[in-house]
Amino acid sequence: MTTPFWENTSLDSMTEEQWESLCDGCGKCCLHKLMDEDSDEVYYTNVACSWLNSKTCSCKDYLNRFESGEECLKLTRDKIDEFHWLPDTCAYRLLAEGKTLPEWHPLITGSKSEMHAAGESVRNKVVYEIDVVDWEDHIQNHPNR
Ligand code: SF4
Ligand code: SF4
Repeated sequence: MTTPFWENTSLDSMTEEQWESLCDGCGKCCLHKLMDEDSDEVYYTNVACSWLNSKTCSCKDYLNRFESGEECLKLTRDKIDEFHWLPDTCAYRLLAEGKTLPEWHPLITGSKSEMHAAGESVRNKVVYEIDVVDWEDHIQNHPNR
């Protein structure tokens, strides 16, 4: 049996295609976050970027996402040490921490269905900025909850 690439290739050594394929498309990193100015702690909210489709959990124009006017960040290899702000199910964070991918990951199952079924995406769990009166009401400890 062949070892999958994410178990025998470091993040640094992956091809661009391998790197991109790690993203499960959960949409969690497309939620707005708040930072505590004193502790620098990051809090996820359930408020999604305006370009996120809440059903597919995909960006409405991924190729042009940096023109969205939203704070869309590119995950790059030179920032691997900073991936702790990502959700704890994010493939990039998991591999950066020496862990492996969860069994529902699309690279293992072949589709996003099991991820959605396991509740590991933001599908149907988000609101948009237009719905927000008080940001603090939208804070969640973890984007799964
Ligand atoms: S949290 Fe990670 S795995 Fe999920 S969509 Fe964002 S980059 Fe991809
Ligand atoms: S613009 Fe960026 S943050 Fe917004 S949905 Fe697209 S990928 Fe996510």
